[in-house]
Amino acid sequence: MIEIKSEKEVSLIQEAGRIVKAVLEEVSKIAVPGRTTGELDRKAEELIKGFSARSAFKGYKGFPGTICASINEQVVHGIPGNTALKSGDILSIDVGVEKNGFYADAAVTVEIGNAVSKAARDLIAATQGALYAGIKKAVQGNRLFDISYAVQEYAEKHSYSVVRDFVGHGIGRKMHEEPEIPNFGKPGTGSRLKSGMVLAIEPMINQGGFEIEILSDGWTAVTRDRKLSAHFEHTVCVTDTAPRILT
Ligand code: MG
Repeated sequence: MIEIKSEKEVSLIQEAGRIVKAVLEEVSKIAVPGRTTGELDRKAEELIKGFSARSAFKGYKGFPGTICASINEQVVHGIPGNTALKSGDILSIDVGVEKNGFYADAAVTVEIGNAVSKAARDLIAATQGALYAGIKKAVQGNRLFDISYAVQEYAEKHSYSVVRDFVGHGIGRKMHEEPEIPNFGKPGTGSRLKSGMVLAIEPMINQGGFEIEILSDGWTAVTRDRKLSAHFEHTVCVTDTAPRILT
């Protein structure tokens, strides 16, 4: 059962979404060679506090960070720490925030320094493109897996693979609500989309194979072949015209 949010609820999610956006922008700015992911995490924590909001991730099933910071072959759920960023790295930053009882969630992958390879930049661009291809389908009357298929088609057209083990999700009063939104699927199937559904769409796209492994820290997902992975996410409200991006 996918919840339909009232206009009031959507605007509360959007309020959380504005904070997510601001935090992603500020943290991206200081993601430069020599900085550690732990420093980015502390900056995010300070900013979120300043907005009188709360990290949706910190303490979630014991996750220790305010943000997720996933470098290069790390797919998602990287734990911020003492690792210094190097020029040529790519970094996926995932931010989730709760404000006044409502959640929003978004992610970007950024280049670190000016030595990022063309191959890595292409992967980042295609992952962002896959996200927007999916978002475009978040319109009343379409089916849920139209979104999934659009993401997959875009990624595979660019010869990348989509991660199977993690999916997007409904969002609102909880960070993870129904439905699950895979980044692959059969068009024309799945639940009928209705105005007021709020969805966190989040393709994780790999340069090589789609298989992943979890490191011994119990959180960090990495590509099995250790090739690069990128991640983009927006919280989106379905409408009967154009999808409304809340982050
Ligand atoms: Mg999410």
